[in-house]
Amino acid sequence: MNREFYDRLTTIVSSENIAFEEPMKKHTTFRIGGIADIYVTPSIAQVPQIIALAKEYKVPVTIIGNGSNLLVGDKGIRGLVLSFAKPADYLEIDEATGRLYVGAGTMLSRVAQEAARHQLTGMEFAAGIPGSIGGAIVMNAGAYGGEIKDIIVSAKVLAQDGNVIELSREELDLSYRHSCIPEHGYIVLEAVLALAKGEKAQIRAKMDEFKNARLEKQPLEYPSAGSTFKRPEGYFAGKLIDDAGLRGYRVGGAQVSTKHCGFVINTGDATAKEVLQLIQDVQKKVYDTFSVHIEPEVKMMGEFE
Ligand code: FAD
Repeated sequence: MNREFYDRLTTIVSSENIAFEEPMKKHTTFRIGGIADIYVTPSIAQVPQIIALAKEYKVPVTIIGNGSNLLVGDKGIRGLVLSFAKPADYLEIDEATGRLYVGAGTMLSRVAQEAARHQLTGMEFAAGIPGSIGGAIVMNAGAYGGEIKDIIVSAKVLAQDGNVIELSREELDLSYRHSCIPEHGYIVLEAVLALAKGEKAQIRAKMDEFKNARLEKQPLEYPSAGSTFKRPEGYFAGKLIDDAGLRGYRVGGAQVSTKHCGFVINTGDATAKEVLQLIQDVQKKVYDTFSVHIEPEVKMMGEFE
């Protein structure tokens, strides 16, 4: 690594927030992924400076949130991984307006709990999604009839030209597991959410109901990245996979969950290559059986070979 780049990086971020040769399996819910050359957990304020520096030294940058929708290759990630975690975690609530000002690294579960504490409703659907606000906006995360699109007012993003701009909900172009963020190479820094006044007991009851539904239906005892495939129009991916006879189908340590066929799980020592092979096998079998193409929801990152 370029020594000068590192020296200048440490003038922006404390060395405690920089790690070298960091195993990405420590930072993905799949518990899979090779080494990242440099792994940085910045505060929101540091992000624009780091990006400008990386551009100057032509160091590639990869952005991650909580790593809950990622399959990182076994050969890892070259350059810099910017992880939106603790230092990028903040939450301010304006009770009078029901508006929440949230740092991109703040976990959805924390936002949902704080909203409930302040008797604000609308965030219950997200309490059990193990992602950050940034990742949830990118994915327009959703569950149980709710999605980020329903509660977001705007997001502050860092654009490719180095300017920080504010995008309205319309400009974010949110639809099923889609936003405009990846196509423009934006980095989400902060979001404003709007919730409504509610009853604390009702909010808590809804959150408990969704939590129990997850515990009952999802293989939460295994590492995974949640639903591996997007819902194809008019179908459910899990049902297609089950009906194609793939419940429990394995490639090495990767397996189609026997509890929920929409989840690919890591049974202990799965590699990214095995998960990828399994995904391709499942896509092929489902297509051959039903002529339906199922597209991965999980984002692939880094080097696989
Ligand atoms: P990551 O997985 O780290 O990243 C996802 C994408 O967002 C990547 O492309 C990354 O580059 C990009 N990204 C992350 N942060 C930023 C940022 N600040 N700026 C720009 N780009 C960024 N999802 C649902 O929608 N509904 C569910 O019910 C659901 N249930 C799940 C259950 C389990 C057990 C698991 C493991 C996952 C589940 N997921 C679900 C998937 C996942 O939690 C969501 O997609 C979540 O929104 C991803 O957030 P993250 O912070 O982990 O993002």
